Parts: sequence; C-alpha cells; structure tokens
Amino acid sequence: MPKHWTTKLIHPDARPPEGFHSLATATYRGSTVLFPNGGAVVDTWDQYAAGYTYGLYGTPTTLELATRICELENGFRTFITPGGQGAISLINLAFLKAGDHILIPESIYTPNRKFAGEVLRRFGVEVSFYQPAIGAGIEALFRENTRLVWCESPGSITMEVQDVPAIANAAQKRGAMTALDNTWSAGVYFDAFAHGVDVTMQALTKYCGGHSDILLGSITVRDEACYQRLGATHQLMGCAASPDDCSLALRGMKTLAVRLRAIEESALELARWLAVRPEVELVLHPALASCPGHEFWKRDFTGSAGLFSVVFQRRFTKQQVLAFVDALELFKIGYSWAGVTSLAVPYDFGSSPNRPSYGARIVRLNIGLEEVEDLRADLAQALTRLSVG
Ligand SMILES: *Cc1c(COP(=O)(O)O)cnc(C)c1O
Repeated sequence: MPKHWTTKLIHPDARPPEGFHSLATATYRGSTVLFPNGGAVVDTWDQYAAGYTYGLYGTPTTLELATRICELENGFRTFITPGGQGAISLINLAFLKAGDHILIPESIYTPNRKFAGEVLRRFGVEVSFYQPAIGAGIEALFRENTRLVWCESPGSITMEVQDVPAIANAAQKRGAMTALDNTWSAGVYFDAFAHGVDVTMQALTKYCGGHSDILLGSITVRDEACYQRLGATHQLMGCAASPDDCSLALRGMKTLAVRLRAIEESALELARWLAVRPEVELVLHPALASCPGHEFWKRDFTGSAGLFSVVFQRRFTKQQVLAFVDALELFKIGYSWAGVTSLAVPYDFGSSPNRPSYGARIVRLNIGLEEVEDLRADLAQALTRLSVG
C-alpha cells in the first residue's frame, strides 16, 4: 500500500542496522504497548506473568531497575515508584484499611509520620508512635487490630539504630507485617529480609541515583502474597516512574559501590574528628559507640553511610548553631542527601516530650565526594564561628 509522506512519519519503512550491543540499558519510553492480535489484549499489571501490557506498570527500563534492586536486596519482587515518599504512602495504602492499627517509631522520616497522622487517621486507621529503642518491648503496644509496624534504622536525623529483628519477630507473632525504610543502608548494608522484614522501601533518590538529579523510590517484598497486594494498589494509584529517571538510576548503580566506600571512609573520619571537638556534645553516627543503638548496627549492618548528625554543647544557642551552618563554604544547605556534594541542615526539636532533648543544637551532615581534608578544614573554620555567634 503506497503511503503519503505524512503517514510515513508515523509508519516508516526505514530500518536502521540491527545488532547494537551496548553496555548501557536502553531507555524504553512508552504508554501504549502493542499486542500481537486482538485476542491477546489484557489489562493486567503483573507483567512478569502476562508480559508487557501498559507503560504505567513499567517499561523494560523500569523493570530492569526493579529486578536489579530486588537482586541486591534479596527480595521476591520490587516496584519502582516516583519517589521515596510515594513508596511509603503506597505501602500504607496497600496493607491498611479502616479500623486497622499501625505502629511507627518516633524517629521516622517526618513525611512518613505526617502521612500517618494526617491521611491514615482521616481514613479511620489508628496510629501509635513508639520509642525507636523499644526492641522486643514493642509487644506490649500491639492491639487486636495491629496490622503494620514501621521501622527506620537508623532513624532520620536522630539516627537511632533499631533492633529490627526483635521488632519483626514480635510483629510476626501477632500476625502483623513489618515495613522498613532501608534508605540509609542503600539497601546493601542491612539485609532486611534475612532479619525478618516483610517489605522494604528505599528512596533511590539518594545513593542509587547518587547525583542529586532524580527522584525515585522502590518497594521490595518478601513473597508472592505481598507482591499481589502491592501490585494491585500500585496499578490503581497510577504511580508510574519515568523511564528516563530509571535509566539514570541504572547508571548510578554502576558506581554505587565505589561511591559508598569513599563516602563511608570520609564520613567516619569526620565523625570521629568531630566527636572529640570541645564544641561537640555528641556525634550521632551509627558506627560510633555514642550513637543510640550502636550495638545493633554492629550486629546487623555490614557498613555505614555518609549521613550523620552532630549535637553541639548545651551552652550554644540556636543562633550560634545557625552561624556555624552559614559559615560553611563547601557544605551546602539543603534537603535530600547521598549526592556527591556535602550538605548541612540544622534542625530544631523544640521541647517535644517524646524526642531526645537536642533542641536546636543538632545539625545533620551529608558527606559527599570532596577531599576529606578540605571538608575537615571547612568544618574547622565554621566551628570558630560557633563561639563568636
Ligand atoms: C529522602 C527520604 C525519603 C523520601 O524520598 P524522596 O525520594 O525524597 O521522596 C524517605 N525516607 C528517607 C529515610 C529519606 O531520607
């Protein structure tokens, strides 16, 4: 059938040579997925079972990232979400219903806490917060309707390492599921499924992406039942991730190990140096004995990341701490972390009764890939600004 040139734009006969074998994963974009015939048309989200059906459930680029994250985490299957927070809310929406009860550590990532307090409660879920150091004592907090227990280890900002196996064990005995935010460990320093966790999530935005230029998340599940439950909700929530971002995450993964090693070494060196400075009360780095739950890090983790917090001595005011942060030159000020640039963020815990009494004397540091001596010099010059204020 002869074609007009305008039709050829959409249905070309041109064929480039075949047989290109590159080291990079191709970026497959697509909403429509073609079926070979009318009888093959099926609207199923489970593309592992049914083959590709619709771009919303992932293109080969998305699923390559998913299967590779799954392989690293030793899980059953992985879903890719548009961000880490999207992964958190999807887990909650998949496994909870009105009348259920959920347990969340006080040390959880703040938007996770807010989702529970503001959205889950609105939909009739009972929400309780527990102290991150509770361990097996969590058993006393279970109710008849407790369905899901969150862990985040170490916790955001305050860095408490949790006894995840003890909590997961208690949950299992009471027929509840354990979900873990495994972002700090990059999914590699803590083997969640070997420690009793049922579902993990990570902000791939962080170490997997590694360059502060994408937002992505992952959810990895232990078994088929969790996979079915999450997949059905993932489909209906419609949270597709961009294949372009997935291709950047796949590129980031190739250098994850060397970035993590370099960052771990610099972070440990700076954490130990800060710990003995006269201005510092406490360094909250899981690999240092001064960090709450350090013994669980030692028992359960195989490495440490570049994110830790510093608590200044009680004599320093909020203004002095802010002067320290503002005096930093190489450390930039901003949210998110795990990129190549070092960052500092001041926090103010006020006088919240359920949190440690760090007040406004706590600053979270993200260590990047700059030369460690330059970072140390930057911290040293900024520390001189503390006393001056
Ligand atoms: C950043 C972060 C998230 C959220 O990830 P986004 O991709 O920014 O949505 C969740 N949990 C932890 C511990 C994080 O640090």
